[in-house]
Amino acid sequence: MSFSNLGLSEKVLAAVAATGYTNPTPIQEQAIPHVLARKDVLGIAQTGTGKTAAFVLPMLTILEKGRARARMPRTLILEPTRELAAQVKENFDRYGAGQKLNVALLIGGVSFGDQDAKLMRGVDVLIATPGRLLDHTERGGLLLTGVELLVIDEADRMLDMGFIPDIERICKLVPFTRQTLFFTATMPPEIRRITEAFLHNPQKVEVSKPATTAVTVTQSQVPAGREAHEKRELLRRLLREAKDLKNAIIFCNRKREVAIVHKSLQKHGFSVGALHGDMDQPARMAALDQFRKGELPLLVASDVAARGLDIPEVSHVFNFDVPHHPDDYVHRIGRTGRAGRTGTAISIVTPLDQKSMAAIEKLIGQNIPRAEGEFEVHSESAEPTERSREQRGRERSRGGRGKSRRGGHEQRGDARHASDARPAAEARPAREPKPAREPKPSREAKPSREAKPAREARHASEPRHGSRQQANTSHVPSIGRPEPRRPQREADSEPGDHSHLPAFLLRPVRSPAGA
Ligand code: AMP
Repeated sequence: MSFSNLGLSEKVLAAVAATGYTNPTPIQEQAIPHVLARKDVLGIAQTGTGKTAAFVLPMLTILEKGRARARMPRTLILEPTRELAAQVKENFDRYGAGQKLNVALLIGGVSFGDQDAKLMRGVDVLIATPGRLLDHTERGGLLLTGVELLVIDEADRMLDMGFIPDIERICKLVPFTRQTLFFTATMPPEIRRITEAFLHNPQKVEVSKPATTAVTVTQSQVPAGREAHEKRELLRRLLREAKDLKNAIIFCNRKREVAIVHKSLQKHGFSVGALHGDMDQPARMAALDQFRKGELPLLVASDVAARGLDIPEVSHVFNFDVPHHPDDYVHRIGRTGRAGRTGTAISIVTPLDQKSMAAIEKLIGQNIPRAEGEFEVHSESAEPTERSREQRGRERSRGGRGKSRRGGHEQRGDARHASDARPAAEARPAREPKPAREPKPSREAKPSREAKPAREARHASEPRHGSRQQANTSHVPSIGRPEPRRPQREADSEPGDHSHLPAFLLRPVRSPAGA
């Protein structure tokens, strides 16, 4: 099947050819003819399947006829995050270069005034996050009564983020007769319910990610002590010693942890960016852009911020925290090993993560090999790790602080999993930098899973995920060498000697030291 058989316009076909795509992906092949026939579509597809072009290309063809009116967008695309919205805009810019279309983004972090001026000129495509869109409709600057085509993208992520009531409100503001394209990676009952409410006789198209069987992702788990500084030290070691590391995403479960890990890695000389839901818009876009261009080889991210991002060729994924939801694990490691390339996914696993790991292994239907080493998991009664032995030795020699300090760590370690508790050993770190001050969350960032667990149980038994068998899990990273120079007290409190880092992982000297 080639693109020319799908019914796309000449202009769009030329743009596709200019991009270098030769064949449509399965979701494009199935969905595009239905969209052009003006049918509702229920697309069950993850990011990475080419689903964005599956709606952007036929929309461009449809939009060639007709003109936009002031304040009345012709089409509306809803995205759960600003980054995804910006990515969809990039797709319109890329494929629609030959068309004079007005494409507007309505996302938090951009001034209302600029957005309003753009709406006033009339937009063909409005790409929005639900909160910001409703802010505009409530102010009266936007009328949705001219929307001919509505796209609801990443619906299951919208559900996780608590956006479904907003989506329901928006659906009441667009005409009943509009065409609706609805994309979701999973079909939990709440999503099924809204598809029944929002879609009219939808054409169902379902694909699994093409990379699921073809790709080789080498997975491993590395045991770590439960203290946060131990995990950070282990992460640095893993980064230094990872084979064939070109770039990596380091996932944390919470935005607070993202800020801490980011700052810590920076302090230790790594060239690293951060991405989490509460960063202001320019900072997020800049970090993502630098990572995409390869200027920052490392990116510390949370699930909400990273879901669906189009980041090609990530060689490594590190789970600094084991995700609480097993399908987040699948999404995270889906960042590597794309399009048949090999990738590596390494999870740092504390004793408290055993249950989550078991759920992940059950979901993916395989055991993730364990790397044994210096940071081997130990119970309270087992032999202490080399680091804790060393540290206590040092502390004893400084006057017996070891005992009370250790006690304190254990206490904080236990508090770590309380929902609002500070991460272990972060409560009052000795000389640990304070995490970057996080700006007040915007409306669309607020109900994210980063702040609290998802309201809906995720569908761990989704067959698509279950079938995501990763081949070749035999390689286990070597983690044996000790850190070159250990600061006296807190592993993160002083940047070490950076000369042992590969040059491309080194932070440029001119960069500011702060987050
Ligand atoms: P998406 O699922 O929309 O996030 O797309 C995943 C990646 O596939 C993006 O990098 C697209 O640029 C790329 N892509 C989309 N369609 C095609 C195609 N027909 N052939 C090759 N790559 C594509």
